[in-house]
Amino acid sequence: MISDKMKYFVQNNSALRVMFEEGNRLRAKYGADKVYDFSLGNPNVPAPREVKQAIIDVVNEEDPVILHGYMNNAGFEDVRQTIAESLNRRFGTNFQFKNLIMTVGAASGLNVILKTLLNPGDEVIVFAPYFLEYGSYVNNFDGKLVEIPPDTSTFQPDLEKLEKKITPGTKAVIVNTPHNPTGVVYSEETIKKLAAILEAKQREYQTAIYLISDEPYRELVYDGVEVPFLTKYYANTVVAYSYSKSLSLPGERIGYLVIPDEADGSEEMVVAAGIANRITGSVNAPSLQQKVIARCVDARSDISYYDKNRTTLYEGLKECGLECIKPQGAFYLFVKSPVEDEKSFCEAAREYNILMVPGSSFACPGYVRLSYCVSYETIVNSLPVFRELMKGYQTDADI
Ligand code: PLP
Repeated sequence: MISDKMKYFVQNNSALRVMFEEGNRLRAKYGADKVYDFSLGNPNVPAPREVKQAIIDVVNEEDPVILHGYMNNAGFEDVRQTIAESLNRRFGTNFQFKNLIMTVGAASGLNVILKTLLNPGDEVIVFAPYFLEYGSYVNNFDGKLVEIPPDTSTFQPDLEKLEKKITPGTKAVIVNTPHNPTGVVYSEETIKKLAAILEAKQREYQTAIYLISDEPYRELVYDGVEVPFLTKYYANTVVAYSYSKSLSLPGERIGYLVIPDEADGSEEMVVAAGIANRITGSVNAPSLQQKVIARCVDARSDISYYDKNRTTLYEGLKECGLECIKPQGAFYLFVKSPVEDEKSFCEAAREYNILMVPGSSFACPGYVRLSYCVSYETIVNSLPVFRELMKGYQTDADI
């Protein structure tokens, strides 16, 4: 028999996974061009050419015994140093290889840092809407997830509520910017205010409160928007980065954690995080991908493609009468459902072969998420179908 903890997860199996299967079923039945699947955040821009070349070169040029062998749990030192120098050039930081731990994507990075920090019952604060897996990750280490309700006027974090929710038991606050599911980027002003609140609470309670910055979408920003690098604003920051989206490599499972020298207990944390990498079962991040990343450290996917999709879908949905904040980053639109029960809206959309994720999957009912990392044709062809769908939601005043 499976464990009680797993029984819960099996019963509440991610709506995203269910959607994935539904998308495949509909494509098989109606043909791919008749299905408008906005459910998954799976990048459809191919990885940059440099990545393919680097894979070939690494395999041809590196010593196979080292390349395919066991290593330090934190990863190859030369790879970590190359990434540290890239961060220093871009953000004016001062990291060395010892501040970085290579991880199996951001998902593993988050698990590693939570394993490193949490005692049972420690509180981890998240801002709704949020990536629902945070709840599972915190639960893995018997932490307690504390939710801050959304500010739906801006989808910036509600800092007044944060201030009230921090207790002596608060061990960490997770932020995600650019943000899944809203595409919002937290402004520098927001980050400064957030940092000031955390500093004040640390002083008041004489505790360390870690800010975990989950940033797989850092490079996916539009209109020249800047994404503040959080270690510069708050010393107790840990960054969880991933190449899943920036280099379109989600299946390769590669990312890293940054633990700055300035963080409380930094040296001990670095050692513990290396061990956590091992004992959570990853052991180390994939060695071939580490070496590839070192050769492509400043390569990026072509985001002009997402940008075009973003504008076309945003404008098109607005014309259909749907409301949404124009996203500045990531590849998602978080759209207000025309009816309170957004699940019924998703079900109605499914009748038109449109797949969207209900906001309840991000702890924010009343909204739906659309991933626009799909083909441009899917977006253009979906708009008349959305118009048809929305006819069922017109009020007398609209007609
Ligand atoms: N955090 C957020 C907000 C995400 O959206 C995702 C993936 O979609 C992850 C973490 C996990 O990313 P990775 O593929 O790097 O594990």
